[in-house]
Amino acid sequence: MSSNFLVSEENKEIILNGIPAAPGVVHGPAFVFQHQDVDVPVYRVPEARVDSEKDRFERALLETRSQIQKVRQEIARNMGESEAQIFDAHLLVLEDKALIDETMSLTEESGNNIEHCFATVAQRYIDFFDSMEDEYLRERVSDIRDVSRRVLANLLGQNTLGAMGTDVLSEPHVLVSNSVNVSDVAQLKRDRILGFVSESGGRTSHAVIMARSMKVPAVVGLENASDIIEIGDTVIVDGYDGLVIVNPTLDSLYRYGQISEKRKSIRKLYESKLALPSETTDGNKVKIMANIEEADEIPSVIESRAEGVGLFRTEGIVLRERAALASEDLQFDQYRRVVEQLAPMPVVIRTLDIGGDKELPGNLFGREQNPFMGFRAIRYCLKNPEIFKEQLRGVLRAATYGKARLMYPMISGVRELLEANQLLEEAKMELKERGEAYAEEIEVGSMIEIPSAAYTADVIAENCSFLSIGTNDLIQYMLAVDRVNDSIAHLYDPSHPGVLRTIKAVIDMAHEKDTPVGICGEMASDPVYVPLLVGMGADELSMSPSLIPEVKFMIRHISMESARDLADEILALKRPRMIFRRLREFYRSVMKDAVGEEFIP
Ligand code: PEP
Ligand code: MG
Repeated sequence: MSSNFLVSEENKEIILNGIPAAPGVVHGPAFVFQHQDVDVPVYRVPEARVDSEKDRFERALLETRSQIQKVRQEIARNMGESEAQIFDAHLLVLEDKALIDETMSLTEESGNNIEHCFATVAQRYIDFFDSMEDEYLRERVSDIRDVSRRVLANLLGQNTLGAMGTDVLSEPHVLVSNSVNVSDVAQLKRDRILGFVSESGGRTSHAVIMARSMKVPAVVGLENASDIIEIGDTVIVDGYDGLVIVNPTLDSLYRYGQISEKRKSIRKLYESKLALPSETTDGNKVKIMANIEEADEIPSVIESRAEGVGLFRTEGIVLRERAALASEDLQFDQYRRVVEQLAPMPVVIRTLDIGGDKELPGNLFGREQNPFMGFRAIRYCLKNPEIFKEQLRGVLRAATYGKARLMYPMISGVRELLEANQLLEEAKMELKERGEAYAEEIEVGSMIEIPSAAYTADVIAENCSFLSIGTNDLIQYMLAVDRVNDSIAHLYDPSHPGVLRTIKAVIDMAHEKDTPVGICGEMASDPVYVPLLVGMGADELSMSPSLIPEVKFMIRHISMESARDLADEILALKRPRMIFRRLREFYRSVMKDAVGEEFIP
C-alpha cells in the first residue's frame, strides 16, 4: 500500500465492524451520500413570491437538464450510445410543456410552494400513465419518476447520487452510503470506485453482487456509517474481515499495507494455476462457470478460464434496453455477443428476475409490502407474456450463434416451468412466422431457490435439462431471512443444517433423474463451503469470474474422497456453529498444506 496520503493528527481513528461482502483491501478518500425518499414539504407562498417560486422552478429544470446531459455523455462514453438513449427520454420529460405549465398554474391557483405543486402534477401523470393498457406508455412512468426525483432534489437542495452524476467522483473514492442500490452501482464508472461501504444490505444483495463483479471490496451492515464518515475522510475498507477504518493511524496503514501485500501474493499464486484443469487430486472434474451481467464481462470470463457461463443475469440488459425501447433486437445483440464470442462454451441465460431488490418497470412508486415474496421473476414474466416472449425470442435467435441455454428463476413448482415452456413454444412459433433464424432445440433449466421447488426437485428435474441451486434466495426463503436486511444479517446462515440438508436432497433428487445440478449462488464461490458442495455431489459451481482462481485452487487441493467424508460428517452435525467451525478447520488444513500457515486468509 502506498503511503502518499495524510493522516490528520486531530482525526481519531475509528474502527467500524460490518459484514464482509466483497473481498479486497483498499484505502482512499470517502464519498458519502444518503439515499432519501424525497420528502416534499408543503407550505403557503405569499402572492408576491409566486413569481420567484416560478423562477426557482425554471432554475431547477435547467440544472436538472445539464445534470442529465452530463450523465448521458458519461454513459455514452463508458457503456455505449444505446445505453445512453434512456436519458433522451428523460430530457423529453423535462421539456414536457404540459407538465411545466400545469405546475406553474397550480402554484398560482393554490398558493402552495412550487415543489409541492410539481410533485402533485408529476404524480398525476404517473398515475395516468400507470393505468394505461399500452405497455410503451406505461413504461413512461419510470422516466417521469426518475426525472421528477432529480428536479425535486434540485429544488430542495438535496443531493441524490444520480443528480450529482459522476462529477463528484472524478477521482477514485470509497463510496459510503446508507444504502447502495443496483441503479447507483450501474451508473458508476468502475475506475472511480475503490470500494463500497453501506449501512444496509446483506452479502447477497444485488448491489453487492455487482460490487464483486466490479472486483471492488465491500463492507455492508455498518450502522450509522454515513453519519460517522465524512466526505474526504481517509478510510480503509477491509472486505475480508468486514472492517472499515476511518482516519487510520500510520500503524493501521502499515498493517493493512502488509495484509494487502500478502493477499496480493497469494492471489498471484492462485492465478498462476488458472490454466490447470478444475479437478480434485483424485482426478474428479468439477465444472467452474462464470456469473455475468453484461456482455462487457466476456474478457473476464475468458481470462478466468471458466468453462462457460452458468448464470447470465439479464435484468440490467432488459431493464436498460426496455427503458430505451430496445426490446427484442437489442437484447438479441447482447445475448448474441456473449453466445458467439464464448462459443462453443455454454452460456446459461437466465430470464428476467426483476422484483425483490430490483425495481419493477412501471411500478417504481408502488412498493410491495414484501417484495422478495411478491411479484418477482417468473411470476412477473408469466403475467407479462409479451415482455417475457420478447426476451425468449432474443435468446432463441442468439442461440443460433453458439450454445445458449435458458434458465427460469424463482420456480416454485413444475407448473410454472411448464407454463414458461408453453410461452417458449409460442415465441418459437412467432419467430417461425417471421421467417427468422432461431434455435428449435434449446436446453431449458430451472433454478431451485424456493423450498417448495427444492422438495419437488425430482419432478422439476424430469421436465428440464438441468437444475441450478440459487443459494442466495434458497437460504433467505428457507430461513425466512430477508437477504438485504442488515439487522437480521446474522441469521442469514449458509451453514444452517436445514439449508445444507436441502441442498443435498436437491442434488440427490436431480441425480436420480440423471439431471445435472449446479450451484450459482454466492455460496459456490466461498472457498470454505466449496469442499462441502463438491462432496455433496454438485456437478458445477458458478461464480463471479474474479472469484474463480481461489475456488479452483481449493478444488485442486482436495480429494473427492475427503470431500465426501467431509459432507457425511457435516450432514450429521446439528448446529450451525459446529458446522462452520468444522468447515473452517478443513479449509485451514488444506490451505496450510498448500500455501503455509502465514498465508491463510
Ligand atoms: C440466487 O438466488 O442464488 C441467485 C443466483 O440468483 P440472484 O442472486 O440473482 O437472485
Ligand atoms: Mg435468486
